[in-house]
Amino acid sequence: MSGLIDLSLVQAVQALRKGDISSRLLIEAYLERINQLDAKLHAFLAIAPEKALAQAEAADRRLQAWRRHPEEPLPALLGIPVAVKDVLCVAGMPCTCGSRILEEFYPPFHATVVERLLSAGAIILGKTNTDEFAMGSSTENSAYGVTHNPWDLERVPGGSSGGSAAAVAARLALVALGTDTGGSVRQPASFCGVTGIKPTYGRVSRYGLVAYGSSLDVVGVLGRDVQDVASVFSQIAGYDTKDATTLDLPVPGMNVGEQADLSGLRVGVPEEYFIPGMQAEVEEVVRQAIHMLEKLGAQLKPVSMPHTRYALPVYYIVAPAEASANLARYDGIRYGPRVPAQTLWGVFRQTRGQKFGPEVKRRIMLGTYALSAGYYEAYYGQAQKVRTLIKQDFDAAFKDVDVIAAPVAPTTAFKIGGHGDDPLSMYLEDVFTLPANLAGVPGLAFPVGFDQQGLPVGMQLMGPHFREELLFRTAFTYQRATEWHKNTPEMVA
Ligand code: GLN
Repeated sequence: MSGLIDLSLVQAVQALRKGDISSRLLIEAYLERINQLDAKLHAFLAIAPEKALAQAEAADRRLQAWRRHPEEPLPALLGIPVAVKDVLCVAGMPCTCGSRILEEFYPPFHATVVERLLSAGAIILGKTNTDEFAMGSSTENSAYGVTHNPWDLERVPGGSSGGSAAAVAARLALVALGTDTGGSVRQPASFCGVTGIKPTYGRVSRYGLVAYGSSLDVVGVLGRDVQDVASVFSQIAGYDTKDATTLDLPVPGMNVGEQADLSGLRVGVPEEYFIPGMQAEVEEVVRQAIHMLEKLGAQLKPVSMPHTRYALPVYYIVAPAEASANLARYDGIRYGPRVPAQTLWGVFRQTRGQKFGPEVKRRIMLGTYALSAGYYEAYYGQAQKVRTLIKQDFDAAFKDVDVIAAPVAPTTAFKIGGHGDDPLSMYLEDVFTLPANLAGVPGLAFPVGFDQQGLPVGMQLMGPHFREELLFRTAFTYQRATEWHKNTPEMVA
């Protein structure tokens, strides 16, 4: 069995086509991993074994037919097991968003990204754990219990796509979908030692993604290496009539390329991303990785992004403001459970009061305050202006460099409960990831080493809008020359 879960996505696709393995055996191998290990990890909130096995059998029949008629095109991800973060709608499966307020909610339709995965032949194993409504950096804000980091079960996997990152790292899924509003794909990828893309805002449809901060939200992919991530990205990205913010631009193909080295590539190194207070080993490991890019032929250039320090206060106005509007729809009348009361207002109050968790309530209050009459200009209006300055930092930098290299998070995975009841110290985990969301640019996180406790350290590359392929090619060249992405936690060995 263990051989099957060792195959990368690209290898599994090839082995399936050749008939060396069957989708049924592949899916069984992953379901067995989930059965064995998810009690320890709690990466999944729901699994769909029967459906997955039935789909695997259908995939195997299709592969057999194809081998007789290999001239027929075959869907790119036929028979491949994926996991989906529980903020994305999969018809027929629960969609809780990690919240009690959606505990009985079964969406009647698929998110566009899910629809695209399924029509590419992928098989959904289950839904992964998340901070409630994707608000958090540790998965501790899930109403259904924390996910554990496969590298150290006493630590968080990061968040909010912590379930997806842990599932990929521990090989409970081959690849997984996540979402990134302020770092929720990149930071858990970094904490769990996997690769994750936060695409350009507008590159991937948000239809069927339960909204958090609508001007920031984007669906991304977590996988074992750049090639696997790019393969799934190329299937889910692109224009969608159901999301007016998607752009009708060509999507890069599955193959991330075979260029010899990085010569000609200008890599910007922003000093504002190396700050006092960050874990010294993280800085050291990331600087080594940047040096490696240079050894591979890239030219390093210092760049200045002076408004970086405002990203945190700007984000924690904009995201809660948008969240407060988006979450107004959970009223006990539609969607999830209802707490009965004498009056309509009573139903609203009781349902929202009892079913939302503390972090969500905090954000709704912050956001409602920031949007209220008399304060709107001082908070939301001002934050939007500073957001423009942050975007202009990126525009200016990309006049001089092709990509920007920076740490993903100031620390490696912290202990469960490590940030206690201090929301501000938790928010500080996001300092390096928020700017890309505010500017809408793509970011790719991938493992570049370990700290002294053996916990993975990630680096991110950020690029101009819609240049994901540049990030993929750069990181691919790095991964071809290094082994960091091949390290696995002990529970995989
Ligand atoms: N940690 C950030 C927050 O709590 C980002 C979360 C996300 O990207 N969904 O809002």
